[in-house]
Amino acid sequence: PGERPPAHHQGPAGGPVVARRGVCLVISAPSGAGKSTIANALRAAEPRLLHSVSVTTRQPRPGETDGVHYHFRSMEQFQQMAEAGELLEWATVFGRGYGTPRGPVESALAEGRDMVFDIDWQGHRQIRAALPDDVISLFVLPPSLAELERRLCNRASDHPEEIERRMKAARDEIAHWQEFDHVIINADLDRAIGEARSVLTAARLQTRRQAGLAAFVAGFGA
Ligand code: 5GP
Repeated sequence: PGERPPAHHQGPAGGPVVARRGVCLVISAPSGAGKSTIANALRAAEPRLLHSVSVTTRQPRPGETDGVHYHFRSMEQFQQMAEAGELLEWATVFGRGYGTPRGPVESALAEGRDMVFDIDWQGHRQIRAALPDDVISLFVLPPSLAELERRLCNRASDHPEEIERRMKAARDEIAHWQEFDHVIINADLDRAIGEARSVLTAARLQTRRQAGLAAFVAGFGA
């Protein structure tokens, strides 16, 4: 720990402003659990928080912009990126390719900036193996399966067969909840957002990210 170039980010409140390592906050959930809403609220509350923009081979949904929500690419382009080692992790979800571009993550960590990843359990496993010191993960559960189905049906852009596929995928995703560091239930959105922020705050305060405090603590003569 501590070998990365420093950035000036605050650690414990009341201490000096010193370099610390960035946090890679991975948020996974079955689709419809409210993960994107929570991730958006985190970013609104924490303007310096970066969001990892994934590459996908699926079609954009209405309102989605290339380069903002995803980098929309062909399967051929996606495979080329994977083969060239440009993806930190990648997986096939609903028969489509999804992956995390490596470059932005490396820059964020080098600058000591925190980044949020909205990826599935397969991506979580790979990113945790690739960056064991940097990853903190959070799983978001819906309040019930019935509520999850109701939320998926409200997404008009998805066809009925697509909803059925997503319900099955949701159960498959939920099966991996215990692989994550933290778990929250999104019954009340404000509460869930508060809990997600607490997870991020605790990760930022981890001793292993605070090597920059050594000079401050040395001042205590301990
Ligand atoms: P959607 O198509 O609804 O945006 O996302 C479908 C699923 O793919 C979600 O569970 C989402 O978390 C996951 N996903 C999105 N981007 C990535 C990625 O870069 N890597 C992995 N492994 N999963 C991703």
